[in-house]
Amino acid sequence: MPTAKKAMLLGLDAPMVGRFYKYAQEGAMPRVKQLLDNGAWGANCLPPFPSITPPNWTTLATGATLATHKITCFNVHTPGDPLDKTHQGFDSGEVGAEYIWEAAEKAGKKSIVINYPTTWPPRMKESVQIAGAGLSPNEWRAKDIAGEGFRVSLSDDQLWTSGFKPAATDIDLVPAKGWQNAPQAKRAIEAELPLEYRKPTEKVKDQTWYALVLDSDGKGFDRVLVCESKDAAAPLADLKVGQWSETLPREFQAASGPRKAAFRFKLMNLSSDGEQLELYRTALCALAGWDYPAGLAAELPLQGLPLPYPGYNAIKLGWIDVPTLNEIVELAHEWFAGVATYLLTHREWDLYYMHVHTTDWAYHVFANMIDAKTTPNDEEYQKYLVADRFMYESLDRLIGRILDSVDLDETVVLLTSDHGAKPTGGIFMAGQVLQDAGLISFLPSAGEEEEAAHFHPVTYPKDVEPWGSGDLKLKFKKFGKIDWSKTKAMVQRSCHIYVNLKGRDPQGCVDPADYETVRGEVIKALYDYTDPETGVKPIVFALRKEDARFLNFAGEHVGDVIYATSGDYHGQHGGQLGSEQYGESGDLRSLFLLSGPGVKKGVTVERTIWLQDVVPTLCYLADLPVPEQCEGAVVYQALEDPNQALNRYETLQRRYEKMRKSLDRAPMC
Ligand SMILES: [Zn+2]
Repeated sequence: MPTAKKAMLLGLDAPMVGRFYKYAQEGAMPRVKQLLDNGAWGANCLPPFPSITPPNWTTLATGATLATHKITCFNVHTPGDPLDKTHQGFDSGEVGAEYIWEAAEKAGKKSIVINYPTTWPPRMKESVQIAGAGLSPNEWRAKDIAGEGFRVSLSDDQLWTSGFKPAATDIDLVPAKGWQNAPQAKRAIEAELPLEYRKPTEKVKDQTWYALVLDSDGKGFDRVLVCESKDAAAPLADLKVGQWSETLPREFQAASGPRKAAFRFKLMNLSSDGEQLELYRTALCALAGWDYPAGLAAELPLQGLPLPYPGYNAIKLGWIDVPTLNEIVELAHEWFAGVATYLLTHREWDLYYMHVHTTDWAYHVFANMIDAKTTPNDEEYQKYLVADRFMYESLDRLIGRILDSVDLDETVVLLTSDHGAKPTGGIFMAGQVLQDAGLISFLPSAGEEEEAAHFHPVTYPKDVEPWGSGDLKLKFKKFGKIDWSKTKAMVQRSCHIYVNLKGRDPQGCVDPADYETVRGEVIKALYDYTDPETGVKPIVFALRKEDARFLNFAGEHVGDVIYATSGDYHGQHGGQLGSEQYGESGDLRSLFLLSGPGVKKGVTVERTIWLQDVVPTLCYLADLPVPEQCEGAVVYQALEDPNQALNRYETLQRRYEKMRKSLDRAPMC
């Protein structure tokens, strides 16, 4: 009877399962196809509600449901905080359940955990961990960062341009002067390149680099040297249009001291008349600070880049094209592959957990473009289909390199996801519905400035809904200062509504005797609402929290009323049930592809699989101890021998009896 010695979870954030399956069958993902042919495909794997990142990855790492692990949405509301105050759910200190690797350590087993959300600071002792404070390495979503923003170590990406591009750094091209060691050229112009440290976790010392732009042989400007000073002897980069620089590790002076970061340049545009120049710089990616034990990062190979947000902001802003986005995505995946293969071959391990965020970023940017139902035009459709397919091909290369580093005869491998994704549907503003019903009031004098100050400082392009749509301004047509003395209920995060209760909430105005009446008014207002454009009711359910226990809502970390909108509404995922589908291939179901010793080969499992079933299934297959708060169950239907434990016991019993009998027969001496 085959048994696994090791377990591996490879997590993708928000893939569309239909596309994933189709690309694999078409040959675009040969390594995933091998797993499909040799494993069990879960056709109905449902993420918990809400279909959102931090709670669902936490469920996948603890086997516990949201009520138990207490990460109850993208953001978390601490009981006793004002009802409009939440913080991001990425702090391991707030997770109220044991991680699978903590349980494994109790049995002397060691783990490798890479870029797994809601696990920083690390709670492991003998294992190794890379990142986990955000969605990607060098991205930090600490509790004290307002709203849904994040910070980057050391800086997000930057575009220098002589033209106009949103949020880019404008530069002037002027005749070159005062250069040393400049190469021979017919003409030379220059530009100052001031570095902007964007969304930094800490202050970094200002500096300016220089571009020397050359017309090599009188046929037009064709070459850009990027230099740290006006000395071209050792340029950072020497580029023609469309070329990338090498990866450049450099030391920067930060408030905490010198910090090493790596980055690359790409010359996006240079007109032959020297009028137009566009130079892209990737994020300045810190090469340490996200490793446990601290110091581990120095051992790791620098293949690719530990990018915080690989190219998706740049493509939204029109800084880069799809081929460049694909190159950046590949750089991000190369880094994961380098780090994974190094750790898998240089560390003892029994359990491997990894999360890669690419698919989620992609669908927040182009889910609408690649769907016939929602695409603005055929050109966008074709353009982003290329990006979509490339992303999965690149992920397959990453998965392949990881699988090549492990012994598949003794490792059970699960490919899974926290939820799926769909195109953006209609608009439904729960806050506005409650305001119209007289349950939420704003102070009358909120001027434009005051209103602006009330929003958190991170802005998003207009057509992109931020993760989880927990942002209050997206729940109202106009959002100002709340009049708490007249506000009986408050909407929060993706699916929670609180009664503004006296004695519990700091600005509480509802007498506890009226609690049920107000909950009834909230539920009625949500059900009464009909979309004026379509005549459709967006609300799928609105429940008192006690009634939402069947969805695992309970305790003081969840709202008094829980509601869900239909898949025809809102952004890519979040406040919709995990069973929702929308458009051509929008699908919120999770990925479940299990393979390895003890797992059925080439089968489709039709039963519902819940994400809380993942941990007990891996524990069962690889003989790992079950974490303390685990609530899921083994997915027996994916196993070759669902009675593995019983049969193993009976075999041992038979062998023991045989041995005992032969010992009884043996002469005493
Ligand atoms: Zn997610």
